[in-house]
Amino acid sequence: MNFYLGIDFGTTGVRSTAIDSNGNIHSESQYNFTHEEPASELPSRWENALWAVIEQIPLAIRSQVRSIAIDGTSSTVMLCDTEGIPVCEPILYNDGRGVTVLDRLRAIAPANHTVLNATSSLAKLLWWLECEDTGRAGTGAPPLRRFFLHQADWLAFLLHGKLGISDYHNALKLGYDVANLCYPSWLTEGIAGVFKSSIAPILPQVVAPGIAIGPVTAQIGDRFGFPHDCIVCGGTTDSIAAFLASGVNSPGEAVTSLGSTLAIKLLSYTRVDDARYGIYSHRFTSPLQGGAGGGLWLVGGASNTGGAVLRHFFTDTELDYYSKQIDPKQESLLDYYPLLKKGDRFPNNDPNLLPRLEPRPADPVEFLHGLLESIARIESRGYELLQELGATPLTKVYTAGGGAKNLVWSAIRKRYLKVPVVTPVRTSAAYGSALLAMTVDS
Ligand code: ADP
Repeated sequence: MNFYLGIDFGTTGVRSTAIDSNGNIHSESQYNFTHEEPASELPSRWENALWAVIEQIPLAIRSQVRSIAIDGTSSTVMLCDTEGIPVCEPILYNDGRGVTVLDRLRAIAPANHTVLNATSSLAKLLWWLECEDTGRAGTGAPPLRRFFLHQADWLAFLLHGKLGISDYHNALKLGYDVANLCYPSWLTEGIAGVFKSSIAPILPQVVAPGIAIGPVTAQIGDRFGFPHDCIVCGGTTDSIAAFLASGVNSPGEAVTSLGSTLAIKLLSYTRVDDARYGIYSHRFTSPLQGGAGGGLWLVGGASNTGGAVLRHFFTDTELDYYSKQIDPKQESLLDYYPLLKKGDRFPNNDPNLLPRLEPRPADPVEFLHGLLESIARIESRGYELLQELGATPLTKVYTAGGGAKNLVWSAIRKRYLKVPVVTPVRTSAAYGSALLAMTVDS
């Protein structure tokens, strides 16, 4: 039997899922990051976590793994030497140090491009370049002429041994042109004009997610008992892997992730990109269509509102208990903008937007009703905005994340979204990556 292995590197831990060609799960394993590591030790932590989740998979399954795909946190980036050894600390997904290069980047990149964000992969690469240019002491700035990789690229390298390869989901925020499948000249030439050196030599080659990159190295095959022709595929980001897990494949269908934050992704015939609202589009790759996307786009954005605010006021047990006392048909007139600190990216892109959580009623049920209703309004405004900017009209919303189990909230959200709101059978990113790995045989 052939098995397809997906490995998900999220912010809190690593998960693996092995499936057969019908999508049935045969093995799952997990490794949680229990405490904060200094950034310099993260790569070895990730490497150990990768080995730990693989070792937990029964050998009988490992010996029949046909292909492997890895997803990682979007815009977590690294610089490695020619042996693949990190030469400095990785820069994590939410690290905003790239803010120092944004003015110069704005002079080169097209207006409202998705790279024009302090946390984009490109802003981080340029921050490294700037350190080298200015020779700033104490920044730990490494010399360039290295390999610039995303977290998922580096982890896949540990399995296949080829350096300098990424995929077009991870590379979107690096400025890769996902419509024309090339690096644009404003990136390869423009940057050399504004910064002192060119980044072209260290940019990874970009492949389609799910496409075969190469077999596992002999050493990895021997160590874990993978077949010698077990293929490592182009990877993806953790949020796209979770989208793929839902099985959504029809334009107009969308996935809302109600985790710590609120993220939406709508499958669309048209592409929408607008950094003013934190909206960007990924080229869609459907594992169900042999990696082809049929010219579809995954249009979306992420807001800072979401479950983290709910958890600030309620335990999960209270959320469950109080939610059941809410009548979802009844509209709450409490008009909040639930945030833990100021600033949102989407659908209101305003770094100074203040949390709005007043007036707070004494009754916790009434307060929770106001919070759930207000987050539902923000979600609905998000979908409205995507459609106003040209995305395919919304027909159905699948819900993932911790908030998906709250059926009262689903009923409130349905009132705003005016389309069916359903919970998909599968939502784990590791499952989505396993489906992606199946692309090699479809
Ligand atoms: P993360 O983004 O951290 O992976 P999860 O998908 O694990 O988040 O979801 C965790 C979130 O789900 C928490 O912030 C919590 O507030 C929220 N949550 C848990 N139970 C409920 C519930 N019954 N109703 C609404 N939200 C819930």
